[in-house]
Amino acid sequence: MNQEQTTHPPAPVGILGFGGLGKAAALVLAPKREMSWVAVADHQGYAYDPAGLDALQCGALARAQGSVGYLNPGGVLTDQGIESLLGLGNRVEGYFLALPNLPNTFMATIVQRIIAAGWRGVLVDALKRTSAMEQLFDLAPQLQQAGITYVTGCGATPGLLTAAAVLGAQSYAQVHQVDITFGVGIANWEAYKATIREDIAHLPGYTVERAMAMSEAEVSELLDRTQGRLCLEGMEHADDLILELAGICPRDQVRVGGIVDTRSAAKPISTHVKVTGRTFEGKISTHTFTLGDETSMAANVCGPAFGYLKTGLGLHRQGIYGLFTCADLMPQFVR
Ligand code: NAD
Repeated sequence: MNQEQTTHPPAPVGILGFGGLGKAAALVLAPKREMSWVAVADHQGYAYDPAGLDALQCGALARAQGSVGYLNPGGVLTDQGIESLLGLGNRVEGYFLALPNLPNTFMATIVQRIIAAGWRGVLVDALKRTSAMEQLFDLAPQLQQAGITYVTGCGATPGLLTAAAVLGAQSYAQVHQVDITFGVGIANWEAYKATIREDIAHLPGYTVERAMAMSEAEVSELLDRTQGRLCLEGMEHADDLILELAGICPRDQVRVGGIVDTRSAAKPISTHVKVTGRTFEGKISTHTFTLGDETSMAANVCGPAFGYLKTGLGLHRQGIYGLFTCADLMPQFVR
């Protein structure tokens, strides 16, 4: 037990994006002693309270009025919420980017804005598409120079399951295949609008642009036609890039797919990662890591995100900056 860790004051952290994941992230943080949730932004405003924001109050406000900017005192209505929070400097040491990646360049654009603002601290995201993560790698030298420690792919997949694949790979001399299959159950799609649109973009015949341009009525009609389910195969998911960079296997040996049910909070299928390989004795085997069916997408995304944020804060305090993936680091546990 590290005594210093237990006596360190809570790290002031923020959440950028306060939709489905952002609201869940605030609830995940609420009982934590090592992190204090002090800042949040959505597309209409931001809120800051150095004494700590109330997850239930902010969630209720965002649902009823559409923005945390209505919080009084502490809230401000503005379309420059992210820049306003960055202006607080190291009064916020780290952020979970719970933002939509629509269009597919959105997250990289936000990161460029954060670098330009001169803020130094720790960022984690739950980015999904390979091509979106490649854009972040283009920014890696700038992140390093800006004094930002950024851990990308810190959700469930990429994230928890990708990291589990790295652990599983250790039994093998050669990894042949990594198969990630997820089951997500949400009671209504409006609670996770960006997640669902980004998933629709993976369906045959759809693109990110087409999914983004759909009206809410069109999304509902599509879900009516599929009984609320999205069946996804061969997704462009950055688990492939992350595992290739980590030296586990070439990216074409990583497969990601799953089923999302938007009409029930119960998972339609269990979520698992299978890692198949050959041991040094020449045996072919498969490790399977299965998540508990009772764990929600929100739990499996937000828990790892803050675990990696804690790891990132430790690196940042040691002066270690730059871009890392969920496979480069072990998430710590936030108490
Ligand atoms: P959402 O649509 O519910 O919420 C998005 C939030 O971002 C909203 O509060 C919105 O106001 C805010 N926002 C949009 N533009 C903004 C701006 N310019 N400035 C400030 N705030 C802005 O989204 P969600 O369903 O919670 O998903 C968030 C992201 O998480 C998506 O990109 C999704 O793909 C990703 N995700 C990753 C995983 C994973 O396992 N890696 C799992 C689920 C979701």
